Amino acid sequence: MTDQTLIILGASGDLTARLLLPGLGALLTAGHVPGLTLIGAATDDWDDARWRQRVHDSFGEAGPAAVDVAGRARWITADVTHTDDLRRLLGEARGPAVIFFALPPAVTAKACEALLGVELPPGTRLVLEKPFGTGSAAAAELNALLTRLVPEERVHRVDHFLGKSTVLNILGLRFANRIFEPVLDATHVESVEIVFDENLALEGRAGYYDKAGALADMIQSHLLQILALLTMEAPFTLAAAEFRDRKADVLRATRLWDDPATSSLRARYTAGDLDGRKLPDYADEPGVDPSRGTETLAEIVLAVDTWRWAGVPFRLRSGKAVGDSRKEAVITFKRPPRVPDGLRGCDQQDRLRIGFGPDHLALDFNINGPGDPFELDPVTLGADFGQGDLPAYGEVLRGVFADDPTLSVRADTAEQCWRIVEPVIDAWHSGAVPLREYPAGSSGPTLPLPL
Ligand code: NDP
Repeated sequence: MTDQTLIILGASGDLTARLLLPGLGALLTAGHVPGLTLIGAATDDWDDARWRQRVHDSFGEAGPAAVDVAGRARWITADVTHTDDLRRLLGEARGPAVIFFALPPAVTAKACEALLGVELPPGTRLVLEKPFGTGSAAAAELNALLTRLVPEERVHRVDHFLGKSTVLNILGLRFANRIFEPVLDATHVESVEIVFDENLALEGRAGYYDKAGALADMIQSHLLQILALLTMEAPFTLAAAEFRDRKADVLRATRLWDDPATSSLRARYTAGDLDGRKLPDYADEPGVDPSRGTETLAEIVLAVDTWRWAGVPFRLRSGKAVGDSRKEAVITFKRPPRVPDGLRGCDQQDRLRIGFGPDHLALDFNINGPGDPFELDPVTLGADFGQGDLPAYGEVLRGVFADDPTLSVRADTAEQCWRIVEPVIDAWHSGAVPLREYPAGSSGPTLPLPL
């Protein structure tokens, strides 16, 4: 493999330290990307030694290949909205460059414009973080700009949930078994929930989160990607073009179930106890501007208007500071058409649950259990998966370095994901959906499903 250079723009930031570098360290330790040069850049007046220390600390327990990359890492102080600074940075690249925009979204857009004035080395890849734009029009504008820089296949829009082993397990579960796929449709499924409720609160991240909120932070990005994997038709191959086409098909067919007033919910936490911690009102957290009305819990109900899924409600929900941490997709099956008289106690609906942390798979159903042979008992068949070999960011970076966009979000899909939530954003901005409140540590409000 030829030499490559990873240039991280925004290398002194939170994402770089907490997610990107640990993922890179694991990837290098596993023997991928030999010959990598790592360059960090931001406006901070750091030097090579300070950057190497940051890389070393974030890599954690790393193997010799990662230690070697950390020891050779270079720091370049640069304002990446300036073309001259970007030219200077790219001049240091050995081999094809991977430019990772770990920048505030507004700075990313300016940096892309500034890159237009730089001759990019052949094979350059651009890696962009969420949120990708602020709506479908802004995403389309950014997409148009990016295609002037590199071909679409070399633009990697990161959704690191696509690098999570349990999320990818949806593909094996659905398409490598005979027993599940035939019943995953509107004939058999009553509803689907994709929930990511965390017992983490703001945790000092107001700078990012207060401008994003739960809808943009989780639902518009990660949870819609999970919905796509759960609802897409079987791809012929997992090659990038085919896989991304099938995801795009189903997202194009996805819309809000009904009016935002009945199909969306927004709320923010107030003071409360969370796992023994006393939390203040979200509005009183340092760095929060309460007048923004940012939601810390969002829920929407969607319809997937395909032959397979028409009529099945999909509830997508994510909340912070929720007492009952729940991260799972739950497929609830309809009741059997009739249970023979004499079989008693059959009140549990069959459910297939896919957990995203802890990672597990569970199938809940009824059998004639022990004791009275005609009394039904609920049982659960379960499987726990260990972590994948790589953390999610490592998996995503593996695709980037291999020039494989399979796990990246394609331009049209990024726009579709905004199109799906835009009626909700508009209704929330206009005040048509009130901002509700829930005490930190409670389970938070929810919407009735249209069954
Ligand atoms: P931070 O604010 O922590 O870091 C931003 C970085 O950008 C800093 O290094 C900052 O350094 C640098 N920067 C800002 N302006 C410039 C400039 N003109 N030239 C050079 N560097 C600049 O943000 P995060 O790391 O949290 O987020 C980065 C991106 O990742 C965002 O798009 C965010 O939405 C996304 N993201 C973040 C996650 C997280 O957990 N943090 C999770 C998922 C996505 P300085 O200003 O000193 O130059």
